[in-house]
Amino acid sequence: MKTIEHWIDGVYYTGSPAGRLPVENPATGVVEAELLQASDADLDHAVEVARAAQKKWAKVSLAKRTAIMFRMRQLVLDHQDEMAKLIVAEHGKNYSDAIGEIQRGRETLDFSTAINVALKGEYSFDISTGVDIHTLRQPVGVVAGIVPFNFPAMVPFWMHPLAIASGNAFILKPASPTPSASLLMAELYKEAGLPDGVFNVVAGNRTIVSSILTHPGIDAISFVGSTPVAHVVQDTGVSHGKRVQALGGANNHAIVMPDADLDFAAQHISAAAFGAAGERCMALPVVVAVGGVGAELAQKVKEHAQTIKVGYGMDEGVEMGPVISAKAKDRIVGLIDDAEKRGADIVLDGRPLVVAGYEGGHFLGPTIIDNISLDAPAYTEEVFGPVLTIVHADTYDEAIGIVNSSPYGNGSAIFTNDGGIARRFTLDAEAGMVGVNVPIPTPVAYYSFGGWKDSLLGDTHIHGPEGVKFYTKAKVITSRWPSERTFAATLSFQREE
Ligand code: NAD
Repeated sequence: MKTIEHWIDGVYYTGSPAGRLPVENPATGVVEAELLQASDADLDHAVEVARAAQKKWAKVSLAKRTAIMFRMRQLVLDHQDEMAKLIVAEHGKNYSDAIGEIQRGRETLDFSTAINVALKGEYSFDISTGVDIHTLRQPVGVVAGIVPFNFPAMVPFWMHPLAIASGNAFILKPASPTPSASLLMAELYKEAGLPDGVFNVVAGNRTIVSSILTHPGIDAISFVGSTPVAHVVQDTGVSHGKRVQALGGANNHAIVMPDADLDFAAQHISAAAFGAAGERCMALPVVVAVGGVGAELAQKVKEHAQTIKVGYGMDEGVEMGPVISAKAKDRIVGLIDDAEKRGADIVLDGRPLVVAGYEGGHFLGPTIIDNISLDAPAYTEEVFGPVLTIVHADTYDEAIGIVNSSPYGNGSAIFTNDGGIARRFTLDAEAGMVGVNVPIPTPVAYYSFGGWKDSLLGDTHIHGPEGVKFYTKAKVITSRWPSERTFAATLSFQREE
């Protein structure tokens, strides 16, 4: 059985493990490796190494830092096939989707190659006679990234390129089912010339997260995961004096107006609901059909969903893989069973699906539930599986009321050909990312990503300009030089003009 270790100070590290966690291939149900679970002593070692490395790294010129990020970008391109295969083996998503998440993650590396521009400060001469003022942004120190299982490459990429390029050291805590892409990233950073200790990987589960949240040597935490854990991370991290951004779960809705192009909408809704088996925080699990278009839309989405080839992510033509675990599958099936018992219509039933040759895999076919009641857990909870629910509204006002009653506010979309309604929706939607005829409105890396309400705790969104802000502290410097013969000192607070 393969053992997956940590990466600390530029080398693989065994340390004194607190235990071992199984790493399974969700398409076969076979445990392929064991992941070392870090002890507190291992974390202490990583923090000590990172603190020492950060002090030197923060003094490395922007020219040298950006040169490393350029090399890293190229290395990620060169190794994306290898990284994608690791993701398929541990997560289960299909190969092209794994390539897609690496590509989107690489966009943050692109952005980090221009960190010199993002870190530019401001300067004002003679704010008072002979007195100048300027601003700069300095790294926060040691940043920990705690990430979910569903994007083993993209979500860590949202964090470490900007944190590192800004002069921080980074400790990545990958999700225990999907650790290997993070370790490949570590090898690539070393090859790119990043000094040892600036990027570290410390693996484990909730126990090591608890130690990260209270560790005095960690200055900031970027967290992406479910909302209940985001609350724990935010509350504990902040009460221990850390800067925290905690992105949580989602239950994204799309409104379909009666004037929408239903063929176009159905195709895009099917892709958004069932891509990555619905295990995306920007997946589309709920459609609000307005003015009686629901039944026709459900049939059209079904036509697309039925054609989706489900199977092992490396097999030819496969578009959708398994869900992450037997436990996740049981939970999702339970939610569908419950909705059915409550009288919802199962327009397409993915429960009976068996993939030949992969009988031990955690497969579930695309499922469409129509006429679901708004108190059914399959509607109110984040299902995080290949399940689309359809609810109905008579008017736009009723529909936006349903959308905004969700405690989450990650992404929201509208399908319409009416520019006025679209514009109204972009203002009305209580969500951080809004799409007009775009069901997964995930921003490119030079904009920032983040939700509202229970989908993001903390003030700043992740990556892009807000990411740079999160990973740096502002400083304002006021200066004068005696040789400029400025005013004499007085005890008064009145400013000389
Ligand atoms: P999760 O919350 O279970 O785990 C996330 C991380 O927290 C993991 O590294 C895990 O080891 C750790 N963790 C789990 N339970 C913990 C606990 N009780 N205390 C401390 N740490 C704990 O999430 P997941 O199941 O890995 O990922 C799916 C979730 O992530 C979904 O809710 C999804 O919406 C969310 N997600 C959100 C975004 C976003 O941008 N908002 C992006 C991707 C995923």
